[in-house]
Amino acid sequence: MRIAVIGSGYVGLVSGTCLAHLGHQVACVDLDPERVRAIKNSTPPFYEPGLSDLLKKVLAEGRLTVSTDVLRPVATSDLTILAVGTPCRDGDIDLSFLRQAAAEVGQGMRENPAYHVVAVKSTVVPGTTDGVVRSTIQEASGRTTAQFGLCMNPEFLREGSAVSDFLEPDRIVIGQSDERAGQPLGEAYRPFTCPKIFTTLQNAEMIKYASNSLLATLISFSNEIASLCEATPFTNVEEVLDGVHLDRRLSPILDGRRISPGILSYLRAGCGFGGSCLPKDVAALRMFGRKRGVRPHLLDAVLTVNSDRPAKLVSLAESAVGNLRGLAVAVLGIAFKPGTDDLRDSPALALIEILESKGARVRAYDPFVGSLPRHNVAVCASVEEALCGCDVAIVASALPELATLDWESLSLVMRSPSVIDGRNALRGVEFHGRVKYLPIGQHAEGAISK
Ligand code: NAD
Repeated sequence: MRIAVIGSGYVGLVSGTCLAHLGHQVACVDLDPERVRAIKNSTPPFYEPGLSDLLKKVLAEGRLTVSTDVLRPVATSDLTILAVGTPCRDGDIDLSFLRQAAAEVGQGMRENPAYHVVAVKSTVVPGTTDGVVRSTIQEASGRTTAQFGLCMNPEFLREGSAVSDFLEPDRIVIGQSDERAGQPLGEAYRPFTCPKIFTTLQNAEMIKYASNSLLATLISFSNEIASLCEATPFTNVEEVLDGVHLDRRLSPILDGRRISPGILSYLRAGCGFGGSCLPKDVAALRMFGRKRGVRPHLLDAVLTVNSDRPAKLVSLAESAVGNLRGLAVAVLGIAFKPGTDDLRDSPALALIEILESKGARVRAYDPFVGSLPRHNVAVCASVEEALCGCDVAIVASALPELATLDWESLSLVMRSPSVIDGRNALRGVEFHGRVKYLPIGQHAEGAISK
């Protein structure tokens, strides 16, 4: 099948590359000529394991092309996938990229009278595909509703495992304007044996928001338990949540063996959720509810708990070393999660802003991030360089390497070795002597001294 993918960011490029790998002829499009040039040279504009090799392969096979031109790829395809960004602006979803892309797709459809299907892969609030997208395409293409099909195909890939998530999906959701509209996507995903849900456009849109809001809710729930533990002597959020995880409804016992489902990783305390999806999607769903007269109490609380987390870490640092003015603070892990270079809505950035507002001198380390635009922060090449001369280290992301370091040796390069563990990532590390180790979710009085 010939497929045009509009928007070659994370979702567009991973989807386009994987669909080409599955044997389809894919034309990726992006507004940004730099991005297009990089992709043509087999260099993904972001770090994602496995993507670079797969991209090289499909480019060499001629299965994937990339350009800034929308019209021709749409006119020569059976299916167009919209994968442009839907950011949050003033607490609401910003559909301007989607509107523009839909208008360009409509123009492209004028050049070929054949029946065409447009699938929205961007995360959009319920009603968007049947509303804004349909009317924009109708106007730009001059077609009636019967002359094109609409689908809503939410994407569930996770950054850091995006390629394998796409190629081994746990579910495929296809919202369709009618049965004919759903056929090309059904065909594109034929090799996958996972459950496929064919449903309404609006259900498909809501499934994505409900899924992301559930994950965000679990994280904020865990963080609220952490705050309660911090106020309660002789409690420790890790032990408390370990105990919760052992409920057989959360970790079932099958054939005598306990299964530890991935969802449990969201039932852990930390410095809050970030990234390009959870914060903006919860905010968009909250606004969607408000506009319809629903008071989204739970979503309000999920976001409030989340936005309080970075300040909590700063308070913990102050409890260790007092006033931060003039002190050197190392922030370890600045992307929103380990294994990516994505800084969008990363809690580490909020943390850095608070530290700077308190007069701290901040430096940072993340193996995948080389610089921090808009921040006056030195990004160091190693943990040791970041810690050198520091008064406090704050772990903001659970970089796996942190738990394997020799912290006693590292503490020798720090001026006053206080380590604030914002992810409880050093939970298994034995600290002796010099290091003052402060995990989250533990009352100071009942703290287990390491
Ligand atoms: P992104 O910002 O990385 O990429 C969007 C791309 O679209 C950019 O490269 C931009 O230049 C391009 N673009 C914008 N308007 C265009 C137009 N008119 N024509 C051609 N290109 C255009 O965004 P993303 O992270 O890939 O997310 C895309 C959508 O997928 C969002 O709605 C997001 O919520 C959703 N989503 C993202 C993820 C994720 O992990 N990043 C996962 C699931 C769903």
